[in-house]
Amino acid sequence: MARGVPFTGEYLSRYLAGQKRWNEAREWRAKEAGAGRPSTYQDFCRAHGLCAACAASGVALNENGAGFRTVGSSGNLPLYEECEVCGGTGRIVTPS
Ligand SMILES: [Zn+2]
Repeated sequence: MARGVPFTGEYLSRYLAGQKRWNEAREWRAKEAGAGRPSTYQDFCRAHGLCAACAASGVALNENGAGFRTVGSSGNLPLYEECEVCGGTGRIVTPS
């Protein structure tokens, strides 16, 4: 089972960095679409070494893509499911 992590520290800062990246992603996608190349958000993530499964946050997204998956809580702190695709790093893990 995936690890539950609090949405603080590194996860929060990755999430906020992802929000800032949104404009960049939109411009990239418009440019790629104009050039007739693959231009989904997944393509953007792949081209930038980001984990598309968790939008580079390190925390697994809900099935519907809105919000993050919770796995319980620690005291008052909700715990979220760490992304298994990238091991919580938000980056594409290249098997070596
Ligand atoms: Zn991930």
